Amino acid sequence: MTAATEVASLTIDGVRNAITERRFTASALAEEFYAQIKREDPEIGAFLTLSKERAAAKAAEIDKLADAGKPLPPLAGVPVAIKDVMVTRGVRTTAGSKILENFLPPYDCTAVARMEAAGAVMLGKLNCDEFAMGSSTENSAYHPVRNPRDKSRVPGGSSGGSAAAVAAGMAVATLGSDTGGSIRQPASFCGVVGLKPTYGRVSRYGLIAFASSLDHIGPFARTVKEAALVLRTIAGRDPMDSTSADVPVPDYVAELEKPVKGLRVGVAKEYFGAGLDPEVRAAVEAAIQKLAELGCAVVPVSLPHTEYAIPTYYIVATAEASSNLARYDGVRYGFRARGARTLSDMYRLSRDGGFGMEVKRRIMLGTYALSAGYYDAYYLKAQKVRTLLTRDFDEAFRKVDVIAAPTCPTPAFRLGEKVNDPLAMYLADIYTVTANLAGIPGISVPCGENHEKLPIGLQLLGRHFDEATMLRVAHAYEQARN
Ligand code: GLN
Repeated sequence: MTAATEVASLTIDGVRNAITERRFTASALAEEFYAQIKREDPEIGAFLTLSKERAAAKAAEIDKLADAGKPLPPLAGVPVAIKDVMVTRGVRTTAGSKILENFLPPYDCTAVARMEAAGAVMLGKLNCDEFAMGSSTENSAYHPVRNPRDKSRVPGGSSGGSAAAVAAGMAVATLGSDTGGSIRQPASFCGVVGLKPTYGRVSRYGLIAFASSLDHIGPFARTVKEAALVLRTIAGRDPMDSTSADVPVPDYVAELEKPVKGLRVGVAKEYFGAGLDPEVRAAVEAAIQKLAELGCAVVPVSLPHTEYAIPTYYIVATAEASSNLARYDGVRYGFRARGARTLSDMYRLSRDGGFGMEVKRRIMLGTYALSAGYYDAYYLKAQKVRTLLTRDFDEAFRKVDVIAAPTCPTPAFRLGEKVNDPLAMYLADIYTVTANLAGIPGISVPCGENHEKLPIGLQLLGRHFDEATMLRVAHAYEQARN
């Protein structure tokens, strides 16, 4: 029915229309995508687990609806895949860690359940940095992911599998998680769209926690419109997550077509300083110029505390991680070391054998920052600076409707290039962590390529719960560019 190249260019609406018009069935489409995964993934490594039975059952359900001529739900038959930090009932969920190598969750993450309720067909679970800690997916306990645009390079991280799967046409849309940039940065590296919503917009129920006050779930897709459609599907209050907000969810797709003329786009000099690759700068500046041509007013804004964002993020994130990861004690979940003679030996050996280097580094850093005598100097201080960073945005959003910036200082780096230099890896998050600390929404949209044909991402940031305006600007830019 469809050739490999067609599979790789299908959109959400394209799938739904084709199934409605009976041009192909959801079941046949799922098989086409598994064939595409079989062709592409051995070299890319995006998938950790395939959920073929679950996909077949869902696809059959959709085909039955289509056969009966019933109206199809918005994501009917759409092949999707999920970062392996979201639990899926009876489908192995590892968080990229050896400690959860054989973990079969007893329930579904709300975001996944909402995708399936909207008709999506879950093909499988996607590779990521262990517990979402990293920027290259090289911290996966299983295998690295290669960037489909240049296989000698990383896809970004921690949601590297989610970005690579969309870029390689192995899923139409995917879900990832973003604690400090892990959706936007890999989207930028792989040349796809990635969106981190406002904190509280999407339920975190069933998201394996890294840093609870910074963790967000969001979509990857090839176009802004599809990202809007997925966000509409997963957003909204969930009684199972007390931090999910009771704020009405607009029809993000309908909002896309409103004009952008007259909107004010903020540009902060702090996001264009030293360390920004000249080709990235040129591409992002050209994108801002394009927005000006569309009738947006470009307004300078200041985010003066940006220079403290990385240390603040790495204190808050590691502190929360050290607490969240205390639950992996070898008793209730997954891996338990053999041969321990005492209870504390069992804890120690299980954690030593189950966690990788980066996770251990963060547990140590976070435990230190929270310990008596250092708490005030590090953790409390970081929380205060977090407030200052949030106020920077409040101030800026009094003058502008969105902020435009690079997503990352450079295009995708090479595998192995930064693995032995954690600090260099942390610094690559400079433009993304602030949105997590402030809880504001952000999106990365492709805005060009460098001389080596590596994708570059434009980042747009919005006001709390104003994903609609941010998406509208992103969509207008995308349309104007194509
Ligand atoms: N790269 C950042 C980190 O390593 C962000 C990770 C994320 O957003 N999950 O913490």
